[in-house]
Amino acid sequence: MNTEKVSKKQKGNDVNHVLPAVFDSVEHAVKTLKLDRRHKWEEWNGELSYPYKYSHTCTGCDGGGCNECGYHGNSITYVPVPAFMPDGSIVKVRSLK
Ligand SMILES: [Zn+2]
Repeated sequence: MNTEKVSKKQKGNDVNHVLPAVFDSVEHAVKTLKLDRRHKWEEWNGELSYPYKYSHTCTGCDGGGCNECGYHGNSITYVPVPAFMPDGSIVKVRSLK
C-alpha cells in the first residue's frame, strides 16, 4: 500500500471522486466503477463478483463419461471472480441477506 500516493491524489483536483468503502447495491457498484455489464455481477459474501464458468476434464472418469459429468467427459465449475477497486482492494457490497 502506498498511502503517500493516495493522499497526494486527494489533495489535488478531485478527479477521482471518493468511492464508498461499501456500496449500497450491486447496481450502484457496477455503475460507479463502470464494470463490464456482460458479466452477471452479484454480491457474494459481501463482495462483488461474477461467476466465471470453466470446464475441465472430469476427475471422476478422466473424460470417458460418467454420471457425475453427465457423460460429457467435462465438468463445469463456477468460480467467483471479484471486482477490484482502483486501489486494488476487492469491491464490497452491502449484503441484503
Ligand atoms: Zn465423468
